[in-house]
Amino acid sequence: MARCPICGEALKWEELIEQMLELENFSELLADKEAFISAFEGFVFTCPYCKEEFYGKHLEIKEAEKVFELLNDFKGGIDYENRKVKLKLTNLLALDVMLEEWDRRVKR
Ligand SMILES: [Zn+2]
Repeated sequence: MARCPICGEALKWEELIEQMLELENFSELLADKEAFISAFEGFVFTCPYCKEEFYGKHLEIKEAEKVFELLNDFKGGIDYENRKVKLKLTNLLALDVMLEEWDRRVKR
């Protein structure tokens, strides 16, 4: 789960990505994982709770990689016109983690 590195509040991935939608080339970034991750790491996010700013590199990069994959798996998950992420990224990530855990248990 993403947390604000300053106040520790849980952050929603869909809201984080919505902040990134102000990047003109966001849709192009989705075509290239490396470009996406480096843009993510260098992006200045604003925490909706404490209003402090922090770089994306202070968040879990592994989760950002999964978000990249989810956004590519579900084309149309972003409403560019209204700058809205329609995908429930936070829930999908939680589900993903749960399935991985389940997978590990089954293979044990
Ligand atoms: Zn905060």
